Amino acid sequence: MTTLQLTDTLPVMEDFYTLQGEGMYQGQAAYFIRLGGCDVGCHWCDVKESWDENKHPQVAITDLVAKAAAFPGRLAVITGGEPLLHNLDVLCTTLHAAGFRTHMETSGSSPLSGDWDWITLSPKKFKAPLPAVSAAAHELKVVIFNKADFAWAEEHAALAGHHCKLYLQPEWSKADAMTPLIVDYIKAHPQWQLSLQTHKYINVP
Ligand code: SF4
Repeated sequence: MTTLQLTDTLPVMEDFYTLQGEGMYQGQAAYFIRLGGCDVGCHWCDVKESWDENKHPQVAITDLVAKAAAFPGRLAVITGGEPLLHNLDVLCTTLHAAGFRTHMETSGSSPLSGDWDWITLSPKKFKAPLPAVSAAAHELKVVIFNKADFAWAEEHAALAGHHCKLYLQPEWSKADAMTPLIVDYIKAHPQWQLSLQTHKYINVP
């Protein structure tokens, strides 16, 4: 149950039509909506400008969805920042009414809101996921920085539901060193799959 108020507007840092680069839906056309606001504070964060939601304009949800619906794809990916800092019930209802699948990428550190067709949980060490988000996740994407992260990935896999798909993804700046370790790990633990940031290889946002 959400404690956040329903809202007709959300702080939007950027929104754009591209290809989903990662995970189960990798390669599919998607409209990305990056919401402002994050209280997790990862020191390696590459979107620190998203942290202060007050630096981003409040956009009417109806306008946002109409903009997305101008493109032919009907997959919407809500990311951040940490999108669950906001009540996402109205956004999901409006996206569904326009024929979109609703996907979210979250650290899971705030209570769930919204009606999701797909939740990607990417846990962060700086603020652990809430158990309810771990249980609801459709895919778990663990970013691997070093060897110790494999054990950390298993801890989060144990908290996820049996239906949850499991992905290991090399941190971009460590990909040369970590990818061979991930390949070996997946060969020994085949419940996991490799996720690559393919959008960075093909140079799309
Ligand atoms: S949760 Fe995401 S947006 Fe927030 S600090 Fe970490 S990497 Fe950045």
